[in-house]
Amino acid sequence: DSEPKKDDLQRIIDLMDGFKASKALFTASKMCVFDLLQSRPGLDAAQVAQEIKASVKGTACLLEACVSLGLLKSKPRACQKPVYENTDLSSHFLLSDAPFSLRGYIQHCNDTVWPLFSHLESAVREGANQCEKAFGKTSKDMFQDTFYNSQEAKLRFMNAMHSIAKVTGRAVATAFDLSSFKTACDLGGCTGAMAYEFTKAHPGLSVTVFDLPAVVEMSEHFLPLHTDNRVSFVAGDFFKDDLPKADLYILARILHDWPDEKVGILLSKIANACTAGCGLLLSEIFLDEDRRGPSRGLLQALSMSEGKQSSATDVTDNTLNNTCDILMCNAHS
Ligand code: SAM
Repeated sequence: DSEPKKDDLQRIIDLMDGFKASKALFTASKMCVFDLLQSRPGLDAAQVAQEIKASVKGTACLLEACVSLGLLKSKPRACQKPVYENTDLSSHFLLSDAPFSLRGYIQHCNDTVWPLFSHLESAVREGANQCEKAFGKTSKDMFQDTFYNSQEAKLRFMNAMHSIAKVTGRAVATAFDLSSFKTACDLGGCTGAMAYEFTKAHPGLSVTVFDLPAVVEMSEHFLPLHTDNRVSFVAGDFFKDDLPKADLYILARILHDWPDEKVGILLSKIANACTAGCGLLLSEIFLDEDRRGPSRGLLQALSMSEGKQSSATDVTDNTLNNTCDILMCNAHS
């Protein structure tokens, strides 16, 4: 047998180590290492350890690991321990108050996705999500039963959606010429982060965010500083209640959560609400038609929610009998 190629060996090692890198990132974020080094760049490991109330040995290992991952820079000092500061990557995405902060989403990965994936073998054996093993409860509706079952869990989930929508929303909002639409309804629009990106990008557009009452009642916590009067909120259940009237319906990261039957109900409600000239904008991690990628979508499917990851044609085949124009774009998450 021929020797394995060096690149192949590296690739398999990177795959084996991937979870350690993720967990190092989650832990440094949770322990506020990046916020600390932003306000006080140039601390050494012992000083960081004191501030984050952790052991010097553990903190030094965490800081060095972060340097190796490109999340921190270390500066050597003659005869003294190195000092640390943030890289551009961490300043952009990992500070709590950065405009493109992913901190809320990282916390969701650590607190919700990680426990689910630690039971992946059972998930694969059973073909079902592992909420019961991970969180001690069965989940018929992930939102009602897991994400929103306490005020704290709900805010954590909303923070996660808010941060990822702020980072990726502009790309979705600007993917199409929407000048023919005057009103949009963002179904499952959560905190409104995506809606604000749409109104920013399209001066003639007003957006109604439609989400569950438990979510809408918290939306004020997430308003941008300058409130935009073209964004409004309506509380309801998109499977049961009338949908607000709009020229353009937006479904961003919604369809993959639900089984075909519920997707069918939602899409036919949208079809019924549409009149001539209306549109539906879908943003998902659409799979390639041959289902060989992208891995982000295929890995997400392993969380075994009731729904599934689809390709663009899976969705159009399922849908609306040409009752409206369908605009589809790839979400980053
Ligand atoms: N669209 C947002 C985005 O892309 O960032 C949030 C996506 S999040 C995965 C799914 C959203 O659907 C949540 O805000 C959740 O509250 C909402 N949702 C779940 N079930 C719903 C229902 N029955 N009616 C209305 N909204 C619902």
